[in-house]
Amino acid sequence: MVEGDYANLCALITQKKLKAFGGRWDHLLDYMQQYSRHLACRLSGAVSMLERPLAISSIPYGYCAEEPTDQPSPWRLGDQATVIPSFSGDGMAIAFYTGYRAAQLYLAGSTPAFFHREVHNHFGRRLYWGTVLSRLLITIPSLAQAVRVWPSILSTIFTATRVPSASLCRLSGRIVKALKMCGVADSQLIHQPSV
Ligand SMILES: Cc1cc2nc3c(=O)[nH]c(=O)nc-3n(C[C@H](O)[C@H](O)[C@H](O)COP(=O)(O)OP(=O)(O)OC[C@H]3O[C@@H](n4cnc5c(N)ncnc54)[C@H](O)[C@@H]3O)c2cc1C
Repeated sequence: MVEGDYANLCALITQKKLKAFGGRWDHLLDYMQQYSRHLACRLSGAVSMLERPLAISSIPYGYCAEEPTDQPSPWRLGDQATVIPSFSGDGMAIAFYTGYRAAQLYLAGSTPAFFHREVHNHFGRRLYWGTVLSRLLITIPSLAQAVRVWPSILSTIFTATRVPSASLCRLSGRIVKALKMCGVADSQLIHQPSV
């Protein structure tokens, strides 16, 4: 939900599948609701505000910025730094982490090139395996069934594709501190169990 009674619906789809619907958004929406009873239930009674999606874009899974060190460069954060496949659910965490880390390095007098190299080292392996798995799951959807037989593989995959928890703990501690300094009361913060 965005605000009031409005909701923002985003979807990931392959080009091939979209073409199979003749590029028709209404056909895709019908298909998604037939495929997912849960979505149909959530959308029941909803009225589209627009006839077409506001934006359609390809997502460069596996992208990782790495600039030549002798070229001036902006500090690339979030999706501009690295794009992890969606199934890992880690895009937001990477956006927060890279923002925090870039600020830290900037204040210490470091350079964008150093930062991008660090991002590359930090996320390169996760991006690689995340992208391989994502492609495999799209090509052979029945692979997802393997999780039923071998549930522990799911946590192994998530661990391999996520921002390391130590980095997140440090980051969330600092965000909480900054929010408190800005006058946000303890009761307004969502507390998470300590890791
Ligand atoms: C369909 C979909 C589902 C996703 N689901 C999840 C999920 O469940 N969990 C998760 O962690 N991540 C998810 N992600 C990924 C996550 O949304 C991104 O990784 C994250 O938002 C990246 O943050 P960002 O700040 O880099 O970019 P963004 O959040 O995209 O922010 C960039 C902002 O810059 C603005 N902008 C662009 N160009 C200009 C310009 N020239 N001038 C001014 N403003 C400009 C844009 O309008 C936008 O508001 C999903 C992504 C998609 C597309």
